Amino acid sequence: MLRAVVGHGWRPRSSKPAPSAHASRPGAGFSFELTDEQKEFQATARKFAVEEVIPVAAQYDKTGEYPLPLIKRAWELGLMNSHIPESCGGLGLGTFESCLITEELAYGCTGVQTAIEGNSLGEMPVIIAGNEQQQKKYLGRMIEEPLMCAYCVTEPGAGSDVAGIKTKAEKKGDEYVINGQKMWITNGGKANWYFLLARTDPDPKAPTGKAFTGFIVEANSPGIQVGRKEMNMGQRCSDTRGIVFEDVRVPKENVLLGEGAGFKIAMGAFDKTRPPVAAGAVGLAKRALDEATKYALERKTFGKPIVEHQAVSFMLAEMAMKVELARMAYQRAAWEVDAGRRNTYYASIAKAFAGDIANQVATDAVQIFGGNGFNTEYPVEKLMRDAKIYQIYEGTAQIQRMIIAREHIGKYKA
Ligand SMILES: Cc1cc2nc3c(=O)[nH]c(=O)nc-3n(C[C@H](O)[C@H](O)[C@H](O)COP(=O)(O)OP(=O)(O)OC[C@H]3O[C@@H](n4cnc5c(N)ncnc54)[C@H](O)[C@@H]3O)c2cc1C
Repeated sequence: MLRAVVGHGWRPRSSKPAPSAHASRPGAGFSFELTDEQKEFQATARKFAVEEVIPVAAQYDKTGEYPLPLIKRAWELGLMNSHIPESCGGLGLGTFESCLITEELAYGCTGVQTAIEGNSLGEMPVIIAGNEQQQKKYLGRMIEEPLMCAYCVTEPGAGSDVAGIKTKAEKKGDEYVINGQKMWITNGGKANWYFLLARTDPDPKAPTGKAFTGFIVEANSPGIQVGRKEMNMGQRCSDTRGIVFEDVRVPKENVLLGEGAGFKIAMGAFDKTRPPVAAGAVGLAKRALDEATKYALERKTFGKPIVEHQAVSFMLAEMAMKVELARMAYQRAAWEVDAGRRNTYYASIAKAFAGDIANQVATDAVQIFGGNGFNTEYPVEKLMRDAKIYQIYEGTAQIQRMIIAREHIGKYKA
């Protein structure tokens, strides 16, 4: 469906800079107006979220079942894999457009959105570092069928400290043999292929910029054992698993860029995936704000709707401020990277801020619902549980602050 929108040729297919149109193109400068095409993407995702996701979200949360019918439908509508380049049959959308879609999907259910976002995270190393053959083979198949992929970096002993991973890959002839264990892998049990980071230089003194290599690994390779689905606090329909790799053979053609380039690729992907994660957090916060506002208009205490108590209306005002500012933060981070600039600072600000405010806004929504807020019959307790992960995955709230501090202080030292 989105393919038809893009096909109208109203504007370039992504928000990457088009020099001649740069000054006037909405979204490219200080204009807050979305283009007609961007509005279409947003409207399509919103309609899907409201009409198809929200009605079944609570049931998926309850059962923890993987939302395959919703994923297939999102794929049909063009709401998945939207950043896959046109050379591989994709829409080649910019991060900005992908974020607009993600916010709407998250408004519906962040468990579904995380499953979809897991694909973007798995694909991003191949988008930024894959050669033509790798891109055609592994990104192309995502366009042909509604397949999933995954980003396999975290291990039981190393999450924030990525350089501490122990999975190793040894070169034997034209292959690499991989041994190790990954943990908390989104789409781990559903993926068709994985991006995997492994240590290729056994020397513990080797610099991170040389010690690790990024691989594309077919999920059906012999030696892969996928663990049980983890039962998490929130986003329960998303599939999170540990995966063991035992003597898994990967052809050297599946190395991304070259031996030693893996750490940079794995971290570089975050510049493009943290803005969408922030957008997901904003979608959740917006949903919490909407639910709380509607409830506050209806619920009466002391003879009037609770929205007329200043304490409640001021809470709603604070929640609205946070949603608006977090949205601006992810849009700025997305715009920077689409403009071809290094956006690490903005991506971490957006991710940290949106992750925090999603938790604050969801907690406040539960407060406004009173006792009902604590109950599964109402939508906000799910939002509060779902929100927590935004402060943990793709770099914790603390790690984002370390990055922001490093980038900020670096400017003064330069
Ligand atoms: C549902 C879910 C889905 C996930 N999906 C994926 C995925 O698809 N692929 C993948 O590779 N990983 C995934 N992860 C892993 C996730 O990215 C890590 O859990 C996260 O990076 C934190 O790592 P950790 O759990 O090892 O915590 P730790 O690194 O052990 O951190 C524990 C605590 O210490 C703090 N901390 C650590 N180091 C510092 C420091 N230097 N300064 C200050 N504070 C510090 C952290 O902020 C945190 O509060 C997922 C995790 C979950 C729960």
